[in-house]
Amino acid sequence: MTETGIPRLDALPRVRMAHLPTGIEEMGNLRRALFPDGDGPRLLVKRDDNTGIAMGGNKVRQLEYYLGDALEKGADTILITSAVQSNYMRTCAAMSARLGLECHLQMEERVPKNDPLYRTNGNVLLDRITGAILHSYADGEDEAGADRSVEDLADRLRADGRKPYVIHLSPTHPPIGAVGYVDAARELLGQLEERGETVDRIYVGSGSAATHTGLLWGLRAFGSTIPVTGVCVRRPAAQQGPRVRGNLDKLSALLNHAPEFSEDDVVVTDVSLGPGYGRVTDPIREAISLAGAREGLFVDPVYTGKVLAGMIAELRGGVVRAGETALFIHTGGQPSLFAYGESVLTDAG
Ligand SMILES: *Cc1c(COP(=O)(O)O)cnc(C)c1O
Repeated sequence: MTETGIPRLDALPRVRMAHLPTGIEEMGNLRRALFPDGDGPRLLVKRDDNTGIAMGGNKVRQLEYYLGDALEKGADTILITSAVQSNYMRTCAAMSARLGLECHLQMEERVPKNDPLYRTNGNVLLDRITGAILHSYADGEDEAGADRSVEDLADRLRADGRKPYVIHLSPTHPPIGAVGYVDAARELLGQLEERGETVDRIYVGSGSAATHTGLLWGLRAFGSTIPVTGVCVRRPAAQQGPRVRGNLDKLSALLNHAPEFSEDDVVVTDVSLGPGYGRVTDPIREAISLAGAREGLFVDPVYTGKVLAGMIAELRGGVVRAGETALFIHTGGQPSLFAYGESVLTDAG
């Protein structure tokens, strides 16, 4: 698909670093574990954990567009605000390093965890290896406050003669990162066409909602009606649904193209959200262990383990039927396994 009918899509500035296309694999062992009588749907995984740089994941696709925009605007310093164990920050720090840009990470206290592993290992260790400059923000639920604080930091850097570029993930800003998943939707449809396959439902994590929004927008823009279920990782479905709808409109404005969405296109489930962001539950532990033990596939406690747990709950509930195919988008995040340590094991209690 080269002619998209969306001229802005290929005109936006982009830094190309991801290893694309990412592979699609069958999860036959997981299917047999879940449906020993052989009556379950076919299960596929798209390996966006293998996007190549900085240990991969969905943020590589998103940052290609943010950093492209930053370079076009002449920035020499990148600022971003997110959770302490953020995959976004680790990927941003590494990609910025590779581009020779100074990177500031504002770490929001979203998870009540004082475990030294959480504070020093996983993504935090990788952030420090890149030489990024670390800052802290105390209130992890105050998205607007975190945004203001990172803007204040940008002002101070500007006063020092630097040219800062702030990556904003809150819904009041244009969803530039979502464009990476519009492109991923194009890639996925091309792969399915080449393989002569159909998919009946896609499962993807829905946090800032850039991935969910971009994928859904792209599928509809390219004429696909595959249902997409966004599995909530941070907020309840009642809040996440409107966030995704708002983002779809902003993306249409950004790309100057308005695909048609039906009433029921935005599907979100919080079946596996548990007590909230970054909190590990038994269904997440089960998903981590099923993927690892059956497929040699590592999913993380914050995002992909929760998404897989949500998908497993829906598969067990018959949402995708025998003879149909469900596709799990593996968005990465494995470094946080090392920050959560043994608490992810099924016998950890
Ligand atoms: C950030 C992240 C998500 C959620 O993506 P959003 O675009 O923020 O909704 C899912 N999985 C992993 C591993 C992530 O790091």
